Amino acid sequence: MESELLLHSGGCHCRRVRWEVKAPTSVVAWKCDCSDCSMRGNIHFIVPSERFKLLGDSDQYLTTYTFGTHTAKHTFCKVCGITSFYMPRSNPDGIAITYRCVDPSTLTHVEIKQYDGKNWEGSYHSSGISSYSKVNSEKAN
Ligand SMILES: [Zn+2]
Repeated sequence: MESELLLHSGGCHCRRVRWEVKAPTSVVAWKCDCSDCSMRGNIHFIVPSERFKLLGDSDQYLTTYTFGTHTAKHTFCKVCGITSFYMPRSNPDGIAITYRCVDPSTLTHVEIKQYDGKNWEGSYHSSGISSYSKVNSEKAN
């Protein structure tokens, strides 16, 4: 689990949305099966929002979809439709990064864990997901 922080870059398919994120080379990502994530095949890792930076004029190409509790802000590119990152319900002070939207070669290892999004409340407590912005931002101690 010990891994140095590195600056990863990534973004959407049409490259209008681009960002940088500071994270280890090895991360824990969540495969969620809630109604939204399962349609998209979403697998994401979570970082503290201060480790994430939108680049250039990416902002103007983003739009947001919400549903249910409207806590998660599912941001996606208006042009190509790809959700490269979003604000997750599990970590309101964090950013969820779609790991497949990170540019190739800087992520060396992704451990995928299952998140039972159909039973959101129960999973929230049993998975410990709320602490994962920290797990992905610090070296193991
Ligand atoms: Zn795009």
